[in-house]
Amino acid sequence: MNNYDLKQEQTLVIVKPDGVQRGLIGEVIKRYEQCGLKLVALKMLIPTADQALAHYSTDPTWAITTGSKAIAFAKERGEKLFTDDPIEYAENIRNNCKKFLSSGPVVPMVWQGMNAAKVVRKITGVTDCTMSVPGTIRGDYALDSYTTSDADNRSIRNIIHASGTADEAKLEIPVWFKPNEILKFRYVPELIMYDINLDGILE
Ligand code: ADP
Ligand code: MG
Repeated sequence: MNNYDLKQEQTLVIVKPDGVQRGLIGEVIKRYEQCGLKLVALKMLIPTADQALAHYSTDPTWAITTGSKAIAFAKERGEKLFTDDPIEYAENIRNNCKKFLSSGPVVPMVWQGMNAAKVVRKITGVTDCTMSVPGTIRGDYALDSYTTSDADNRSIRNIIHASGTADEAKLEIPVWFKPNEILKFRYVPELIMYDINLDGILE
């Protein structure tokens, strides 16, 4: 892979219903935009329960990863678990996510650029907002945690969905966008960010 391929990397972000209701659409866009990423697709819609479920079912490894992560944190807190099986635990999370994501308008978008998936995750923060550092979206604008959401058996209200990796994004983007809704155009700042010879700057 060369740098040209890397600057084509795409990742999916969704402003979840809590982000929309709390008036954070503009703030979220600003944060990804100002780091140099290129916005290539954007829409607003109310997902059906089926579409929300499809979104959380694209990656066959999601249940095991998310279930194991959640179980490990719950054990660390000394909580009683209804199951030790990560897949069963994740099924409950998935159902709660389906309910949450389809509860109101959301804003899916596709961001493109060098290391897009990794950079977006850095700006977004980690799943549990109390562990997200200040400066991240979840760290600055949300306060929900595994503990509080699990106690109420609901999804963590953490403003954003962001693909975990570029490969995850490849599976998730088609749930929200048709290929012709992802725009191809020249983004002028790429010249100063990526151009090797920098020969298009001076007059
Ligand atoms: P992330 O959104 O940080 O990639 P995951 O992919 O692991 O996190 O989980 C997807 C979403 O499911 C999270 O953003 C969160 O809203 C919800 N979620 C994950 N784990 C839990 C949990 N243990 N309790 C409640 N909600 C959870
Ligand atoms: Mg995830």
